[in-house]
Amino acid sequence: MKKSKYTFTVNKNDGLVLMNYMSGAVDKIEKDEAEEFLKRYESDNWSDYEHMVHLYKNGYLCKDETEENQNIRKKYIEFSEEYENTPVQLIFSTTYACNFSCSYCFQSDYKEDNVLLNNEIINSFFNYIEKRFNDESQRPYITLFGGEPLLNGKTYKDALLYFLKTARDKNYEIAIVTNGYTLSEYAPIFKEENIKIKEIQVTLDGDKNMHDGRRKTKTGGETFEKIAAGIDAVLKLGYRVNLRTIIDKENISKLPYLAQYCEDKGWLGYGSKYFESTVGRNYELYGCGKGANLFDRLTMWQEFIKLAEENPILKRFHKPQFHGIRYLSENKELPMPVFDACPAGKKEWAFDAKGNIYGCTASVGVEKYKLGSFLDENEPLNTDQIEQWASRDVLTIEACKNCAVSLSCGGGCGVIACNETGKILSENCRPVKELIKLGLEYYNII
Ligand code: SF4
Ligand code: SF4
Repeated sequence: MKKSKYTFTVNKNDGLVLMNYMSGAVDKIEKDEAEEFLKRYESDNWSDYEHMVHLYKNGYLCKDETEENQNIRKKYIEFSEEYENTPVQLIFSTTYACNFSCSYCFQSDYKEDNVLLNNEIINSFFNYIEKRFNDESQRPYITLFGGEPLLNGKTYKDALLYFLKTARDKNYEIAIVTNGYTLSEYAPIFKEENIKIKEIQVTLDGDKNMHDGRRKTKTGGETFEKIAAGIDAVLKLGYRVNLRTIIDKENISKLPYLAQYCEDKGWLGYGSKYFESTVGRNYELYGCGKGANLFDRLTMWQEFIKLAEENPILKRFHKPQFHGIRYLSENKELPMPVFDACPAGKKEWAFDAKGNIYGCTASVGVEKYKLGSFLDENEPLNTDQIEQWASRDVLTIEACKNCAVSLSCGGGCGVIACNETGKILSENCRPVKELIKLGLEYYNII
């Protein structure tokens, strides 16, 4: 018998938690058993150990490498089947222009671009995706992204409406990532034109003062009230809102105020079918991650927990995932193994109004990640890079192959990894064990 390479322990005050995301097993090792267990665990010697059969049955141990590889193959096939059935997200960056100038925005690193969305580009985009994604088992959906995709100038708006109507006629659902400033004006149009809206993601960064200090219009105007009115408008029309908050050291203390605001507005009462919140850090991409205000991942969640203990409204506002521990708390079992957490070039593709094709939102507009063109059929695809994106998972990234937490991590973000190492097939590690430990404590498991 030997230890499965996916078995790991998490220390708790009153003992150890033993976990394996391949088999889905979670067990508590009491304090008085921990010493003997750890001796076995560290030496990987299980002969005559009284719990050996239990550990084997639960997948913490395997007979040998061959058995482990068979188990991996079986789980990988299950993961791939499930993955195959996930709809592809086609992100269309309609413009790189924006009506905001947020204090931390990475898109200010891009040269503003004056390619104007027009019907010819839109027709080429739909012709391309109709051919390219024809074989998908699920209908792909389209996410509008920017810059700011809901700009209000007449020419742009006409083109965007043509885009939306074409998507509707071709039966594509639309998600929108917007700053929310013009939502009130756009919401009735979505309804009138019967656009199939999957979700609208809008950002509020704290209470009014904090938000208005960070997310101003280009001319320095306040934006909080107008965005909130937009959220009201789309919720009333029955569209789903994903409220995103970008957290850093400057604004984290305002999160409970935002949560209370959402409660007072009645937004939390819509339930998760219509209203969800996402709390995130800025990416360590390009310029946005370099500010002194950026939290590392672990500290951000530690601070979130402290605040949530003092302000229970936060617990209703947002339920962190903690690498599958929220799922464990709600479903009494671990989620299925994640062999791949980065959908770029597989379940996610990105396009811009210049006709360029990229792997995802993080690479859109960045020359070295350009994969081809949907406007120019003669331009060759970057097949070498496309293959790297397609093959990137924890069984192909060297560092992930023997990482015990890999099936709860999935290898991290390919663009961040590649920005650091120059290789798409490289790891972007997260403090997975530490976050799992936080999650076990936060959700009071075991
Ligand atoms: S490269 Fe990063 S941002 Fe892009 S899909 Fe992968 S994980 Fe997401
Ligand atoms: S990215 Fe790092 S933490 Fe994640 S699976 Fe790979 S080696 Fe492990």
